[in-house]
Amino acid sequence: MTLAKIPLAGVIGSPIAHSKSPQVHGHWLKTYGIQGHYIPMDVAAADLEQVIRSLPRMGFVGVNVTIPHKEAVMHIADLVTDRAILIGASNTLIFRKDGKIHADNTDGYGFLENLKTGAPNWQPKSGPAAILGAGGAARAVIASLLDAGVPEIFISNRTRVRAEKLVSDFGNRLRVFDWVQAGNMLDDAALVVNTTSLGMVGKGELRVPLDGLSKDSVVTDLVYAPLKTNLLATAEEIGCTTVDGLGMLLHQAVPGFERWFGKRPEVDRATRAAALR
Ligand code: NAP
Repeated sequence: MTLAKIPLAGVIGSPIAHSKSPQVHGHWLKTYGIQGHYIPMDVAAADLEQVIRSLPRMGFVGVNVTIPHKEAVMHIADLVTDRAILIGASNTLIFRKDGKIHADNTDGYGFLENLKTGAPNWQPKSGPAAILGAGGAARAVIASLLDAGVPEIFISNRTRVRAEKLVSDFGNRLRVFDWVQAGNMLDDAALVVNTTSLGMVGKGELRVPLDGLSKDSVVTDLVYAPLKTNLLATAEEIGCTTVDGLGMLLHQAVPGFERWFGKRPEVDRATRAAALR
């Protein structure tokens, strides 16, 4: 009798010690009684391709990819989904049985699921979304919001040209505001999203004036350390519905886990607690 191979998955980045993904996937493997392992792997850029190509032979069914390899893996993969191409980055690789490597991006899915769960009354058609930042995470957020049917997206970024590049890539439902005038774009926004790293422990504070924020807006932050950023605390005081960034991290992990281990995991309180341990 041949025993079935124990499926392996993991997360590749550098550094990787801070990643919460091993706790999240480890929690689901245990909860669902799945024989499998999820391993953090610190891989240098020079070794990336060789490492990825050898993983399937060792029993890996796929991996998550994080900073700084999210763009580079797209050149290694045999198939890249349209949304990963549009976003310009991949965070999830699936090693198919036919030997092909399939690259996808689940950040936009994670963002939207977290928003729908945390702010069930928010509707894509409620009104414009205001996005602070224009980095990789902003691209995933914008792709998911446009796909969901948000009518208009305002963007402001310290480096304006990066925001303008988003308009040329995503089209004329986007409008750029100067970083010094970022506060102005909040007045009419039904949704406000911080996709900059500002507000995170060890980074600077987000200094965008929030006086224009209406209590009817939903405010969400991709930063989840701390869980309640100053942006979320202020928005809460104004009376806005707020959604923290941890849920996005948890929800983006769902499609990968399902593809690799054959079970769609639930994002619940125990999952959050596992990530915070
Ligand atoms: P990124 O590509 O490096 O982009 C960083 C963004 O932050 C850029 O818009 C950058 O503006 C802005 N920024 C950085 N320092 C700034 C400063 N001092 N003043 C003004 N703007 C500043 O990073 P990313 O991948 O988009 O990630 C952004 C944040 O989202 C990170 O905190 C990351 O941890 C978080 N994130 C969370 C999740 C989740 O699951 N919750 C998922 C993905 C990312 P410039 O263009 O001017 O440099």
